[in-house]
Amino acid sequence: MTRIGELQKMYPKVHRDIIVKWEMFNRGVQDSRDLDKLSLWKPAGHGSYLSYDEDLTMERLKAETPWRFKEGAVLLPQTAWMRTGLGFPVWRKARSPYTIREIRQGVFAPFEGEEMMDVELFASPKRDPRPELRTSKGTPVQDLVELKRRCYKIVPVRFCEYFTTGEECKFCNFNPTQEDARRTGLQRAVTINPDETVEAFKIYGSEIRLIEGFLESGGFAKSETETSVNVKYVDKLNSSLPYKTHMKLVAEAVTRKELQRLKDAGLSGIRFQMETFDERLFAVINPGKAKHLSRDGWLEAFQDAVDVFGVGNVAAKFVGGVTMQGPKGYSTWQEARDSHVEGDKWMLSHGVFPCMDALRWAPGSPFSRDPANRDKFPPAEFFLDCAVEHDKAMNEHGFYDKLNKFLYCGLCCQGRPYAGEIGILERAGDFATWMSDVVPYENNWLAKFLDSIRQSTTAG
Ligand code: SF4
Repeated sequence: MTRIGELQKMYPKVHRDIIVKWEMFNRGVQDSRDLDKLSLWKPAGHGSYLSYDEDLTMERLKAETPWRFKEGAVLLPQTAWMRTGLGFPVWRKARSPYTIREIRQGVFAPFEGEEMMDVELFASPKRDPRPELRTSKGTPVQDLVELKRRCYKIVPVRFCEYFTTGEECKFCNFNPTQEDARRTGLQRAVTINPDETVEAFKIYGSEIRLIEGFLESGGFAKSETETSVNVKYVDKLNSSLPYKTHMKLVAEAVTRKELQRLKDAGLSGIRFQMETFDERLFAVINPGKAKHLSRDGWLEAFQDAVDVFGVGNVAAKFVGGVTMQGPKGYSTWQEARDSHVEGDKWMLSHGVFPCMDALRWAPGSPFSRDPANRDKFPPAEFFLDCAVEHDKAMNEHGFYDKLNKFLYCGLCCQGRPYAGEIGILERAGDFATWMSDVVPYENNWLAKFLDSIRQSTTAG
């Protein structure tokens, strides 16, 4: 029996696609040429999302697979989609038991050894925007605004000051991975020009109907400075289009006054990257964040954010299983699970939507440098137990009805750190239907994509 089959027996009430997502997300996929068919050319700024392997730098990837590089872009595996519109990011891992192979044109399946799993995967559809679009200064628009079909991401400052003080989060390697990317010719500016970015945003926004997106920087400066930059961006971006998009900010905890400034500028929601709720390990894993604000200060900031933005518009991101790493980490995944679930419940009972990423190292991060951490990763059972408990708490607090569906947009974001799948698939059957009351069919690319999959299967 395959591992997925075993997990299905253990979690009979959890939809098979959710089990596939967390198992594949958590354990990665061996590299192969078929992964290129699940890839898109990306103007990558840093390579931390390349893989689970601490030694797979951009430089090494280029030396071994030069066809994956062209001027200013790298061919990176994207989300693998399933028929429910649920997806998972395809991250390489040399020691993974899994491969993904094309089983007929445009249709893929995961394999455990030579055994094919009973699930079909599909590549991300090609993007809407034209890559040759440029600003009046000649900068490619995609260098300023990252677009995922109708959702956008803007990085005003690509820098984290914690690396200069040795207080970086222990699983991260943000600045050095940028240097690694630069060595392969993938240049990405540390800061972008706000006016040119607004122009780029406007170009995209008049080409297609933008729906939602977010701003994100590293922990780059004092939070007043960071907020001033973000307020300026939110304000200018919002007033550049004749319609409003759902704009969110991914940030460190900020004060109530700063939250109000952001809301007044037009921000719809906010996500604080707390990484772990664990009282004993918060400062151990995130020394810079703990210096920025004590753990109690972070918890107060969440409550302020709910006061300012309202229930369902504030999220917390945790890294699932990170509390198992390092000499002070938990020795069993069950302890790590209990710690995570405690945080999850605290957030939901305070009006905050908690989300979870799978643990991985950026190459060269402090945790990756200690070989003792190599086997301290949680199994899929950790994520599935957490998802089951999360679903119970979501129901208890009526949170599926309170959630702003754009906070973690069901069109794109659920392929990454998300744990609302159980209730969403129970209620709507697929993610396109879940989003259909807030995104009409003509703008609901996921609904069209799922329809095209169904039609091609019927035709075939
Ligand atoms: S704040 Fe932490 S996770 Fe974010 S870029 Fe800095 S070190 Fe990395």
